[in-house]
Amino acid sequence: MTDTAVVWFRTDLRTHDNEALVRAVDEYDTVLPVYCFDPREFGEATFGLAKTGPYRAQFLIESVRDLRGSLREAGSDLFVRQGKPENVVSELAAEHGADIVHYHTTPATEERAVEASVTDGLDEHGISSRGFWGKTLYHIEDLPTRVERIDDTFTPWRRTVEDGATVRDPLDAPTSVTLPETVSDAEGAGDEPGTIPTPGDLGIEEHEPDERAAIDFAGGESAGLRRLTEYVWEGDHLREYKETRNGLLDADYSSKFSAWLALGCLSPRLIHEHVERYECERISNDSTYWLVFELLWRDFMTFQFEKHGSDFFMPTGIRDIEKSWQRDEAAFERWAAGETGVPFVDANMRELNETGFMSNRGRQNVASFLADALGIDWRLGAAYFESRLVDYDVCSNWGNWAYQAGVGNDSRDGYFDVLDQGKRYDPNAAYIRHWLPELDALPADACHEPWQLSPGQQEMYDVELDEDYPEPMINVEAVYDQLDG
Ligand SMILES: Cc1cc2nc3c(=O)[nH]c(=O)nc-3n(C[C@H](O)[C@H](O)[C@H](O)COP(=O)(O)OP(=O)(O)OC[C@H]3O[C@@H](n4cnc5c(N)ncnc54)[C@H](O)[C@@H]3O)c2cc1C
Repeated sequence: MTDTAVVWFRTDLRTHDNEALVRAVDEYDTVLPVYCFDPREFGEATFGLAKTGPYRAQFLIESVRDLRGSLREAGSDLFVRQGKPENVVSELAAEHGADIVHYHTTPATEERAVEASVTDGLDEHGISSRGFWGKTLYHIEDLPTRVERIDDTFTPWRRTVEDGATVRDPLDAPTSVTLPETVSDAEGAGDEPGTIPTPGDLGIEEHEPDERAAIDFAGGESAGLRRLTEYVWEGDHLREYKETRNGLLDADYSSKFSAWLALGCLSPRLIHEHVERYECERISNDSTYWLVFELLWRDFMTFQFEKHGSDFFMPTGIRDIEKSWQRDEAAFERWAAGETGVPFVDANMRELNETGFMSNRGRQNVASFLADALGIDWRLGAAYFESRLVDYDVCSNWGNWAYQAGVGNDSRDGYFDVLDQGKRYDPNAAYIRHWLPELDALPADACHEPWQLSPGQQEMYDVELDEDYPEPMINVEAVYDQLDG
């Protein structure tokens, strides 16, 4: 009798460095790769916002298509279904006489609940299951301190990990994956690899990213690997990454690996391997280290979720801090639409709305504006980002939002002064003009603070406040004075 494993793909849409897949191929005679479009991922989420917006949906569909292509090249296929994994995975596993289901685990409440339902369903069919850890640069089992006891502050945590742990080598993609014989023998629906849905099939209206986007995020492992080669080797951008990564315009100021990392199309261990090779073959400097440093932030947020779980979704966060958050719908809508009247905030929100991406600097500023300056429940902002971001990652998103709102992994209670930040990181207002063309005619200073224009100046530049661009919804300086006081 042949032994069969099902590999249930989730946010690990790659063939390289995929332990769930590699172990299945090594340890079982035949393997059935499966992906489920779970309807719960495409419905309404917290606060009535769509859980997955058009950019991420498109990126996901492309990633699934690419994975199927890679598996077909290895002589296999990807079985794609729309439905709840707890139904689909057990049915396919039972139909094809599987002995075990392999999957990667994700340390977040909903994801863990789905995992539990899947494994419970498999138990009922007498099929075993095995979860793997594959999201982070450092493997959870290699952490010097058990995850329940890790430091809640980034720097001490990073130091213990850098001193006491080693990054594992990435695993090679299997060259050959054998499907169970039942695939060709069976006559039921389980025999069909299935059609990959369109955004419309998932109830999502298609939306082409704006041509002003910094980068075209094409989904999938192949595109992710291409971006890695282009950014590191062809473009040679790593040597000055630390200096450029706070930039706002252009594809290459930062790596843009996030969307491929979020869906698992790229493994952080593979990126690490490229950085090490680059350091040997070209240059080793602060910038080359800095990319790994950023990946450690990603690890940190993930391990923090493993430690604190659902506390990250509470208004009081992981530090149980009571603040009087507002629920001002109208103010939230203005923030979300990029209509606050504060150009640096609006330019960033318009970029997010039109492309699904925003720089790290932008994210910190708009998050601080919502939570600190407007005092609006930070979870509304996190849920909005969840809906819009092409690179949404539950741990990085909710962890960074909680951090910014002063209820997460930061004991300081600082805010980002969006006026200072805008002038510092966009001194010529090129970024503001890029996303707010209605302000194009203004000199840089006025682009940052158009409310300072006199009626005569507004006439001279042909930009009328409240007509061409909104009046600011708050007096930003006064609010910061209050926060400082
Ligand atoms: C409010 C807020 C929400 C965020 N939401 C997300 C999210 O949903 N998904 C996401 O991937 N990142 C999120 N980030 C982190 C960061 O902004 C993005 O990872 C980064 O801007 C993506 O661009 P890049 O790939 O060019 O990053 P680079 O600057 O080139 O960094 C390389 C990689 O390191 C990781 N990284 C960098 N900074 C962080 C960070 N602060 N936290 C965790 N990982 C980091 C990312 O995987 C990134 O791709 C958020 C940050 C803030 C402040």
